[in-house]
Amino acid sequence: MSPERTKKTLASVPPRREDTRPSRGRLFILSAPSGAGKSTLCGLLRERLPGLRYSVSYTTRAPRPGEIAGDDYFFIDEAAFRDGIANGRWAEWARVHGHYYGTASDFIDQRLAQGHDLLLDIDVQGAAQLVAQYPQAVTIFIMPPSVEVLRQRLANRETDSAEVIDRRLRNAADEMAARSRYRHIVVNDRLERTLEDLLAILAPND
Ligand code: ADP
Ligand code: 5GP
Repeated sequence: MSPERTKKTLASVPPRREDTRPSRGRLFILSAPSGAGKSTLCGLLRERLPGLRYSVSYTTRAPRPGEIAGDDYFFIDEAAFRDGIANGRWAEWARVHGHYYGTASDFIDQRLAQGHDLLLDIDVQGAAQLVAQYPQAVTIFIMPPSVEVLRQRLANRETDSAEVIDRRLRNAADEMAARSRYRHIVVNDRLERTLEDLLAILAPND
């Protein structure tokens, strides 16, 4: 293109008006084996970053003591979950530790369209499904310092029976094998340090 033509083209461009539309938010996907500290870290991130929205998943598992419906999860039965599959309601879904878990497409799209950053705590199967749809998503895998520490954390949490803990530990090896697919891997040893690492990853990039 000649310099003259460039000049003419630029001169014909109308002056930019301020764009008042909210820009689209960013998607952050957090995965980890059960007990590595995802819920704890998500809670701390939500306190430190009030503008961050947390994706509330749907699940067929029973609420744990202290969990709040609509805040921690939407608790639904298997028939309602299967209806959601048939109706294309889930952006992603998976069967994890014997229960269904899923994220509603409209939940994600509404928040991103409003310009909010959105944090999702989902398993490795769901993360792969979402990355296929949102390739710009930032993926983070939280590792426990060791499998023994993971077992201790699950036991100390006192929310699951020995049988449930064993099942979660058996799944942990497969989940951890998927960590190389994630953009960031963060070891949750000291909680404060892990939180600082996550805040650096979530910091605005402009
Ligand atoms: P997840 O959501 O990944 O299943 P939780 O957030 O429920 O895991 O954490 C499991 C247990 O480990 C909880 O009792 C929590 O308080 C504890 N925990 C989390 N992070 C740490 C850490 N860095 N050091 C020690 N204990 C931790
Ligand atoms: P928990 O029962 O301990 O809350 O969660 C068990 C596992 O399910 C965790 O690995 C968690 O990340 C995952 N999970 C929670 N919500 C979803 C979801 O909406 N979709 C998928 N695929 N996994 C989820």
